[in-house]
Amino acid sequence: MIDSEKIERAARLFLEGIGENPERPALKETPERIARACKEIFGGYEQDPKKILSKVFDSENSELVVQKDIPFYSMCEHHLLPFFGTVAIGYVPDKKVVGLSKLARLVNVYARRAQIQENLTEQIAEALMAFLKPRGTIVLIKAEHLCMSMRGVNRGAVETSTLSHRGILSEDSDLRKIFFERIAL
Ligand code: ZN
Repeated sequence: MIDSEKIERAARLFLEGIGENPERPALKETPERIARACKEIFGGYEQDPKKILSKVFDSENSELVVQKDIPFYSMCEHHLLPFFGTVAIGYVPDKKVVGLSKLARLVNVYARRAQIQENLTEQIAEALMAFLKPRGTIVLIKAEHLCMSMRGVNRGAVETSTLSHRGILSEDSDLRKIFFERIAL
């Protein structure tokens, strides 16, 4: 559960910590605004991936299903700064497919938490295997991390990509190749 009162108290302390005056008129409502934003930004903790993937349809088609360019925004758990980019998901159905909007919602369940990109990639693949039970799945995430772009030597947008696969998409490298060809289209 998001505890708005705690977030507001922490935000006030944080503002003091960086040398600001939380009572300055422009900042007065900032803690409350942060708490409200956190409900959305960290709303993934309160969502159930199983429920999102429970609405499935029968399908005769057992070919690779690919969805790409699913946008996401997440917060890195090391700095609590945003990282964001796109997710591409492929899966080979085992007689069941999921509504297309559900994959984007599944991404949000795990993106809207304190995260690292590597785990986000794994968790999406795991959830698909556990609740949709396809013959295999593959998840590719490309992202920019503001904790890198804004700080230190790595200024400028650097793209980080992470990949996770399961089942037939782990076993069959030709199928993986088809996935990469399809997302390159
Ligand atoms: Zn970071």
